[in-house]
Amino acid sequence: MATVATISPEVRAKYEPVIGLEVHVQLLTETKAFCGCANRFGSPPNTNVCPVCLGLPGALPVLNKRAVEFATLASLALNCTVRERSIFARKNYFYPDLPKGYQISQYDLPLAEHGWIEVPTPQGSKRIGITRLHMEEDAGKSMHDGFADSASRTYVDLNRCGTPLVEIVSEPDMRTPDEAFEYLTRLREIMLYTGVSDCNMEEGSLRCDANVSVRLRGAEKFGTKAEVKNVNSFRFIRAALEYEIERQIEIVESGGRVVQETRLYNANEGRTYSMRSKEQAHDYRYFPEPDLPPLIVSEAWKAEIATRMPELPEARRARMIAEYGITEQDARTLTATRSFADQFESAARAAKNPRRVANLVQSELTMRLKAANLELEQSPISMKGVAQAADLTEDGKLSSKQLKQLFDLCFERNEDFGPVYEREKPQQISDAATLEKMIDDVIAANPAQVEQYRKGKKTVAAFFVGQVMKASKGQANPARLNELVTKKLDA
Ligand code: ADP
Ligand code: ZN
Ligand code: MG
Repeated sequence: MATVATISPEVRAKYEPVIGLEVHVQLLTETKAFCGCANRFGSPPNTNVCPVCLGLPGALPVLNKRAVEFATLASLALNCTVRERSIFARKNYFYPDLPKGYQISQYDLPLAEHGWIEVPTPQGSKRIGITRLHMEEDAGKSMHDGFADSASRTYVDLNRCGTPLVEIVSEPDMRTPDEAFEYLTRLREIMLYTGVSDCNMEEGSLRCDANVSVRLRGAEKFGTKAEVKNVNSFRFIRAALEYEIERQIEIVESGGRVVQETRLYNANEGRTYSMRSKEQAHDYRYFPEPDLPPLIVSEAWKAEIATRMPELPEARRARMIAEYGITEQDARTLTATRSFADQFESAARAAKNPRRVANLVQSELTMRLKAANLELEQSPISMKGVAQAADLTEDGKLSSKQLKQLFDLCFERNEDFGPVYEREKPQQISDAATLEKMIDDVIAANPAQVEQYRKGKKTVAAFFVGQVMKASKGQANPARLNELVTKKLDA
């Protein structure tokens, strides 16, 4: 990746980055924020439109109740204080994808304020403040490419006009690109758990603008910030911030001054470019929207919305760690999405040993998903399948080698564990006489280990189990084998 010239680690360490993020999240309502048009991605251009979202003269907006409920639920999940009375405002600017000439947003009296997200840091964890969460509507989309005459024309698709959004503005509380990455990861997780958004970055339902400045360590005043816009993945945001921090340090080190401006990140080149400076910045001429009354979220309504709050990811992880005796790392994987955590929990509760289920997910399953480049949600083996495999292993009806082979088959054939197991029914040697014969052979071939065992090093038993398992090509019944090895060695 391209970096600015080379800044030595010593110089880098003299400076402290300051980062604040502005995140737009599209709400998963059926219809748009102020009209009855479908709120849907991927429809043919300009089909989900009406006089309201096209801004035709005389059309009046009516606020979508569901959008308010989603925004309120998101606010509560982010520990914000929800204002009983908030005001919609017009944010005026000219752009071809904005037919009204203004965006309905909230300005000085937003829906919610003063929240926070707890993010993990190398030192433990840290609270990142949330300044505000306000409701607004999205604009349409300019289409610059993909048409035969794209060289000379730009088309406009207004389907997205009027899509309900919340904008979540953080305090300038982050100090490293990693913290920004964690903040976004937590924020996305909370939006997904509450079900207010699908947070699909490719489809634009989560968008982030990153503000960043640098100051000498110990300095009180913030440096001048630059805003990096429209970066389309969390990894790229982290990379854009890294680049931007170095660029700014270099300017300050060489006696220059950072200019306040908006910059764009080019992922191919791994660098940012100036888009517009503060002098060209918009003056939006906000004023209260005369066509909408104040939004009132009463205590009673707020309480009713709060009853829909699911267990949030952080709390869920803590409970699962306690309940199933799993590690923090396991809990992170298993709570990646709410539906996945639900599946895991229902399978784990029914399984003989929940921890074994967690271990299988973390080891055998994750390994294969990585190799096949699949997400957890795309796994051919369901949580129920993993639990079934765990139970068979627990009962000694399946050796770990057999389990691995069956998992491989599941991935090869894109089939769940249950049917594959039923068909394959791996051979198992449980017959005592056969197993004893094999154990005798291994004992005879390894007198030194026998000696160790008899001198008290009981862990050597595992060596004999392993050797017999190998000799049986993984077919020895592990439970029977364990039992017989100990019996033989103790004889
Ligand atoms: P603006 O007036 O340019 O919109 P705001 O004060 O509204 O700036 O802040 C916008 C975002 O930028 C917020 O997320 C805030 O935390 C962040 N921010 C503000 N000042 C700085 C700074 N000096 N360095 C980094 N981020 C900042
Ligand atoms: Zn409409
Ligand atoms: Mg601002």
